[in-house]
Amino acid sequence: MSYLNVDEIETALQSLAAEYPELTELIELPHRTHAGRLVRCLRIGADPQRPGVLLLGGVHAREWVPPDALVSLAADLLEAATRGTGLVYGGHRVPADRVQQVLRGTTLYVVACVNPDGRHHSQTAEPMWRKNRRPHPAGGICTGVDVNRNFDFLWEHTAKFHPDADVATSADPCDPRQVYRGPAAASEPETRNVVHLLDTCPGIRWHVDVHSYVPVILHNWGSDEHQSTDPEQNFRNPAFDALRGIPGDTAYREYLPAADLEAELALGARMSEAIRQVRGDEYPVVPAFGGLYPTSGASDDYAYSRHFGDPSRTRVLGFTIECAHSFQPPWAEAEHVIREVSAGLLALAAAVADPVGTEDRTAGDRSAGDRSAGDRSAQDRAAAGREGPA
Ligand SMILES: [Zn+2]
Repeated sequence: MSYLNVDEIETALQSLAAEYPELTELIELPHRTHAGRLVRCLRIGADPQRPGVLLLGGVHAREWVPPDALVSLAADLLEAATRGTGLVYGGHRVPADRVQQVLRGTTLYVVACVNPDGRHHSQTAEPMWRKNRRPHPAGGICTGVDVNRNFDFLWEHTAKFHPDADVATSADPCDPRQVYRGPAAASEPETRNVVHLLDTCPGIRWHVDVHSYVPVILHNWGSDEHQSTDPEQNFRNPAFDALRGIPGDTAYREYLPAADLEAELALGARMSEAIRQVRGDEYPVVPAFGGLYPTSGASDDYAYSRHFGDPSRTRVLGFTIECAHSFQPPWAEAEHVIREVSAGLLALAAAVADPVGTEDRTAGDRSAGDRSAGDRSAQDRAAAGREGPA
């Protein structure tokens, strides 16, 4: 086994949709990439009215694990649900009844590879490529836009942040950090495909963009530190345009309603604990701002920001999981990370499917026997990944 290429990702999603027609729908996203590729979303769950979770992978080209993890998770979940088994990821167990609960109680929208042009380029030409493959501007020489700086959230950073804020984005197509924000907010087909899903699937209430690497679980906001007492200090208020993005000050901190913060911390803790059970890795739950530098135009903040200006839109709590310890770990290590991501995302889905938390009674059963599963050969793990019944 090794990393999937972009054609194999497509084939895998199509195969799952064909194998589980009762439980899935393959949604063709409307905007083809600059290289003409069609991007699809695998919807898992028969009822789009149920609470939805949007899962993204492959936004950044060089981060090779997340698309494989999302394909693997989709395959595991569908197979276990159909066979009536549970799932085991290292020391983390998902009992069969919780698998059913996820299928019955949620709808998962899986865009395994948002940026296939970039991934193809990373896997065939420049391994450390991060952006998409937008052709360079007339007279220019630099290709590509950072899709995760292109969303319509404080996109115009020079106008929206303090002049001294070290915003991790750029108006320069040639910025060596590969964080070019693009010629306009949501200029990129990859970005617009994600926006399309949020626009057309009002059941989506949670959003997880899977990246690498740190590891860490990020919650809103990335624009500044957050506070829950002054609603006026918010990204829509131009009175604070020259003040945003300075760590450690009180001149501006992004408003995050206390109930949303509580929900994000609780869900983040569930994901973190499930991941830790796999093999002991710690994924701390921290604000996307991280106390270091602000971001703008990122998908997690965009997804969450949408309902503030338009109450008819669903509130979508946004997360970014930064998995793994490197961009392209050897496959044997990637398989461990795939288990971690799968465990974390299923824990989120289970919590969403069962908001009163009855599954807590069966959670957290870690034993020496479970942990030894991590010692099996890479080949065994490649063949398994699902080890039900649990
Ligand atoms: Zn990334």
